[in-house]
Amino acid sequence: WVFEGVIANTSLGLCGVLFLLRASLTKHDRGAFISIGFGGLLYTAGNTAYVTYVQYLEPIPFPNIADVGYLAIYPPLIVAVLLLGRSQVDGKQVAAWLDGLVGVLGVASVGSALVLHTTLENLSGDFGALAVGAAYPLGDLLLVSMIVGAITVRGRRPDRQWIALAGGLTIFAFADITYLLRLSSNSYVMGTFLDALWIIGLAVLTLSAWQPAPRQGDPEPVSGAGSLAVTIVASVLAVAVLVAASAIEVPGYAIGLSTATLLVALLRTVVAFHQLRHFVETRRQAATDDLTGLANRRAFTTSLDHILATKSPERQCAVLLVDLDRFKDVNDLFGHQMGDRLLQQIGQRLSPVLRQVDTIGRLGGDEFGILLPGADQDAAIQTGRRVRDALLVPFTVDDVLIRIGGSVGIALYLADAGNAKDLYQCADVAMYAAKARHSGVEAYDVEHGADGRNRLILAAALRTAVTTPDQFVLHYQPKLDLRSGLITGVEALVRWQHPHRGLLYPGSFLTIAEQTGSLRALTERVLSTAIAQCRQWHLDGLDLTIAINLSASDISDDHLVREIAVMLATSNVPTDALELEITETTLMADPQQAAATLHALRLLGVELSIDDYGTGFSSLSYLRDLPVQTLKIDRTFITELTEYSDNAAIVRSTIDLAHALGLRVVAEGVETSEVLTLLRRYGCDIAQGYHICTPRTADELTAWLRNQPTQTHTMYPPETALPNSGPSPHT
Ligand code: C2E
Ligand code: CA
Ligand code: CA
Repeated sequence: WVFEGVIANTSLGLCGVLFLLRASLTKHDRGAFISIGFGGLLYTAGNTAYVTYVQYLEPIPFPNIADVGYLAIYPPLIVAVLLLGRSQVDGKQVAAWLDGLVGVLGVASVGSALVLHTTLENLSGDFGALAVGAAYPLGDLLLVSMIVGAITVRGRRPDRQWIALAGGLTIFAFADITYLLRLSSNSYVMGTFLDALWIIGLAVLTLSAWQPAPRQGDPEPVSGAGSLAVTIVASVLAVAVLVAASAIEVPGYAIGLSTATLLVALLRTVVAFHQLRHFVETRRQAATDDLTGLANRRAFTTSLDHILATKSPERQCAVLLVDLDRFKDVNDLFGHQMGDRLLQQIGQRLSPVLRQVDTIGRLGGDEFGILLPGADQDAAIQTGRRVRDALLVPFTVDDVLIRIGGSVGIALYLADAGNAKDLYQCADVAMYAAKARHSGVEAYDVEHGADGRNRLILAAALRTAVTTPDQFVLHYQPKLDLRSGLITGVEALVRWQHPHRGLLYPGSFLTIAEQTGSLRALTERVLSTAIAQCRQWHLDGLDLTIAINLSASDISDDHLVREIAVMLATSNVPTDALELEITETTLMADPQQAAATLHALRLLGVELSIDDYGTGFSSLSYLRDLPVQTLKIDRTFITELTEYSDNAAIVRSTIDLAHALGLRVVAEGVETSEVLTLLRRYGCDIAQGYHICTPRTADELTAWLRNQPTQTHTMYPPETALPNSGPSPHT
């Protein structure tokens, strides 16, 4: 009596009270907790009635007044599970509900076959007894299956609240069913461990009220491994029930529930299949470019990352960036729709020149990326050329023949950059270089960096460099007078002794200097250094002229002439020892200003020379009108003079033309003795090039000059082969 009457009832009642207390303290799931609390109290009332009254009746009637209290717990519990479940599964998809349903049905089919069947079979008596007797196992089964369902619907690992809830109710139901089974076999005795199970069940249940609120919202996908497991387990159990039905007697409703389980599981599988197809399709759409059907930027980057992730030391991979030339014109002239249709043809056009393993993607606008796994620089350049050639073939869009073209930039993994971002950048820089040089294809080169990502850094460094002593050094390249065989002058060529990047050649910083306003200061330094050096040579008895290169911003500056006049006057160098080299392109930037400056310079007595002749406009009128004395034929004609007869014809007639106009002719880029011999034969006046001497520092050049048979004698008698002066500084 102490146990059944006092301890048990107090514990049961306490459970109910604790739930109500919890409900008054929290907001979340309050309805559910109140519901369970009242259920617990009703149950306690039923138990009190049993202990104090019913158990003394002889015989104990069934059903009796205590059953009202016992059974009264089911509706509040069911309501509570529904409430708790609802807050967990708000906004779930069909698949989740099907998962839950499969769970419910699976438990129901097994439970009904094993438990319900046995307990109901042993029921006897009138309708009231049957109904009440069946209500217990039905209620328990319903609760357990609902909990399994609710947990499955959530589709993720249950929170502690749900574990306690499910655990408590399962213990409770287990106690109930065991009790019913014992009762039906007349083996129930009061006061065993079984009686404590109800209290334990309710206590565990009470724990659920004191757990932290479960996580709300559900960012995770519904179809996890958990829901798959539920579907599989439920289906296996249902099949087991159906198989058992062929051997032993299984009630019709169990067979019905098992069949329903399998049907819903099937439906769930169909839904899963659709989900999968949808998923694959979304993935595909997320990876392809809508317009062209090629890989989009994201997919392209993923492929690149994938290749880079599998890196082995000898792994090579090239990234090609292709930008269409004149695509903007197509859009402007023919409209965007036609532009789009042109873009759609790019994939077909390029895939024949690519290998199966290569990836092509549209990275945006008219920019395409090509990924060449395993390609080295040669292979990449070859592919780049094929890509360019393919793009040069006219496109037919809506019966209109459109000629575009493309510029290709190449960057190599490891050689140029060690990660995807830098690779893109290098390829981008190379692509812009290809565009700027109209070369079509360029492989990344550190010197390109000047065009791209290093621009700003380089521009800032340049600004400091022009005001810092010793950052700019001059190399001097001798000029050989072909008639006398003497070195009569030198050309000053600027180099930048960059504090981190080493010796830089003018190709990598002059354009930036020009564009960012540092060039004037640079020229000033070059002029003063070169003039001072010239003076030094004169003092040392070396009678050399000095040539200095000018750029467009020099020519357009009014102060230049004064600056030079002052320098010459203070340095005591004869004015005709200074020669200024100006390219055709520089002249053409502002012809009138250039003409004015040149005339003024000529008045000082400075020698003027047209540089790189033949690469610009090569206008005859300026040769006639401008006060120039020398014409330097560009090295592209000279270096390959012996290879192409066209070059020979051009050089030959240019020399004749210049002579007819009273101009001296310098040939630059002389790399072999054959070329030198030929130039002599053509009557060229002066030659300059690696074959004679590479550009070098003033000291080195002085030593070199002193090493030659004395300057007062014929150093290079005509037809004498010269010693090779070593390789080009660029190679
Ligand atoms: P440039 O005036 O045509 O100078 C000759 C270039 O040809 C030099 O390149 C020289 O090193 C190179 N060269 C000499 N001999 C040979 C040869 O046999 N074969 C070949 N392939 N090349 C040869 P560098 O020093 O890189 O200068 C490039 C250009 O930068 C110059 O072309 C000139 O336009 C410009 N530059 C150089 N120094 C200055 C400067 O102080 N001020 C300005 N404004 N421009 C300069
Ligand atoms: Ca020059
Ligand atoms: Ca030149």
